[in-house]
Amino acid sequence: MQKNDTAVVKITDIGTNGEGIGKVDGYTLFIKDAVIGDTVEAKVMKAKKNYGYARLMKIIEPSKYRVKPLCAYARKCGGCQIQEMSYERQLEFKAQKVRGNLERIGGFTPELLDRVMEPPAGAANPFGYRNKAQFPFGTDKSGNPVTGFYAGRTHYIIANTDCALGVSENQRILEIILRFMKQNGVKSYDETSGRGLLRHVLIRYGFTTKEIMVCLVVNGTRIPHVEKLVEELVKIPGMTSITMSVNTKRTNVIMGDSYETLWGRGYITDYIGNLKYQISPLSFYQVNPAQTEKLYSLALEYADLKGGETVWDLYCGIGTISLFLAKKAAQVYGVEIVPQAIVDARTNAEINGITNAEFYVGKAEEVLPKYYEYSADVIVVDPPRKGCDEALLQTIVKMQPERVVYVSCDSATLARDLKYLCAEGYELVRVRAVDMFPQTVHVETVALLSHKSPIVLST
Ligand code: SAH
Repeated sequence: MQKNDTAVVKITDIGTNGEGIGKVDGYTLFIKDAVIGDTVEAKVMKAKKNYGYARLMKIIEPSKYRVKPLCAYARKCGGCQIQEMSYERQLEFKAQKVRGNLERIGGFTPELLDRVMEPPAGAANPFGYRNKAQFPFGTDKSGNPVTGFYAGRTHYIIANTDCALGVSENQRILEIILRFMKQNGVKSYDETSGRGLLRHVLIRYGFTTKEIMVCLVVNGTRIPHVEKLVEELVKIPGMTSITMSVNTKRTNVIMGDSYETLWGRGYITDYIGNLKYQISPLSFYQVNPAQTEKLYSLALEYADLKGGETVWDLYCGIGTISLFLAKKAAQVYGVEIVPQAIVDARTNAEINGITNAEFYVGKAEEVLPKYYEYSADVIVVDPPRKGCDEALLQTIVKMQPERVVYVSCDSATLARDLKYLCAEGYELVRVRAVDMFPQTVHVETVALLSHKSPIVLST
């Protein structure tokens, strides 16, 4: 096939980015927005020797898994990839994605995976689940400020203040900010010229406490007439924290290095289970609180604590998992690279009256080896997408905890790391995908590894 050719294609598979895959005379086509089971007409946009990328032109026969998207921008927006797939099918896709990586990258056999893989934990609410949103600002053709989401793989802003994954409060806040910008001549930041003031707004919402945080990210040190904006924002019930973060760098990084409080507190609080957490604009906090509770409960179940254990929680963020574990363990040590997150972690331990959790700032792969004479019965890791550093895996192997609980947001690096640990005395016992991000291709996974010959300590 060649560029601009069109073909009728039956979609028989799903790619890792959610795209439909079909074959035409043995030639594979990847078609974004086509759903498995669809028969579509597609136009080739890019042709390689054995495969190509095509655009969905017409749905000839819709799949039984195809559903009407809730959002009018579902196809264009880069935020969601699989909104047109039924939620049940999304879950199956995610479980298969994890399984595929464990098989291909991890080298685990289908028989083992049949035994250890548990059904994916789906969300009761696959929409409106996000407690955090970051909206970029831009300027439309008539010079008016706009906000919305980036179109897939670009920085082109699709104007939309009503994202189906977020809370309804977002829209009201965004409309207030846009009106303020227009009335006061406050310009959106422009990436190409580096000019303009308002770059992004970060909005956080405590699902349990109903507290709202607004953090304005600016290319400058002050926002003219900001008191007028504050006056409007505080009318919103639940408004708790209005802050500003200065970011004058020409970078894709959204937040600045610090923030200052314009009104109210510098943080909001929220609950996961019965634990209370304090969240500041710069700390990492899981975006889907309902599913996070399931995820942490599962991590706790896999850790199988009896009360006397020493547990390490590596990549601990603001100590969320650590505090979950602390209730059932003798001692928990948390390690995290962001200093502000550790400040929050210590505060979180304190406000929950937890005294058996200690926190260290630093890279997990550098901190853990230093404390390696401390025993570890269970080690929990929850690394970013790139997975664990090999130096860390080596230290885990040396420390020989009985169980390792691996919480992962990227099943490819999970598979790689599990392969390493399983070659060094561990075996894979349980794996479960938890859907933290419905409508997207992202999937969180929890895995339990057990040491094959736990060392029996003489008393
Ligand atoms: N367990 C936490 C955070 C998980 S996200 C929670 O559930 O909320 C991963 C965390 O790892 C982030 O907070 C990030 O700042 C931190 N991180 C990234 N690289 C790290 C490293 N090398 N050592 C320690 N922490 C790191």
